[in-house]
Amino acid sequence: MQIENNKVVSINYHLTNEDGETLDTSEGREPLLYIQGKNNIIPGLEEELGGKSTGDKLKVVVVPEKGYGNYEEGLLQVVPRESFQGVDNIEVGMQFQVNTPQGPQIIAVTKIEGDNITVDGNHPLAGQTLTFDVEVMNVREATEEELSHGHVHGEGGHHH
Ligand code: ZN
Repeated sequence: MQIENNKVVSINYHLTNEDGETLDTSEGREPLLYIQGKNNIIPGLEEELGGKSTGDKLKVVVVPEKGYGNYEEGLLQVVPRESFQGVDNIEVGMQFQVNTPQGPQIIAVTKIEGDNITVDGNHPLAGQTLTFDVEVMNVREATEEELSHGHVHGEGGHHH
């Protein structure tokens, strides 16, 4: 079966950055399941997978604009230590989920100067050109319920 909108697709993938370092891989795990056309995965990858079939192997290079976005200095913010209530030891690298008008967002602490804490709202992969080595493992029809929820259910998917 061919990958087109509203199909449930199962892929194995290996993700590397421009330096050839592995950032993520499905190796040793279950394949990644997603619904084509539902923005479950980054646009640059979804576009290239359209029209492919089970068993196809492809290498996809995704620029930031079609991946996790460009790195935006504007998403760096300095906030006072008091805003981290309930956190005793704030350290560089810590991540917090905050609620924004655009929905929940992950921010990371990148610098600490006294009571001034710099947080970064960029996605960790923002600004990076990503290379995916992908193998299409399976393609099937999505169920009505999966389409209405916009994500995959059952084995390897959501349970609720
Ligand atoms: Zn659901």
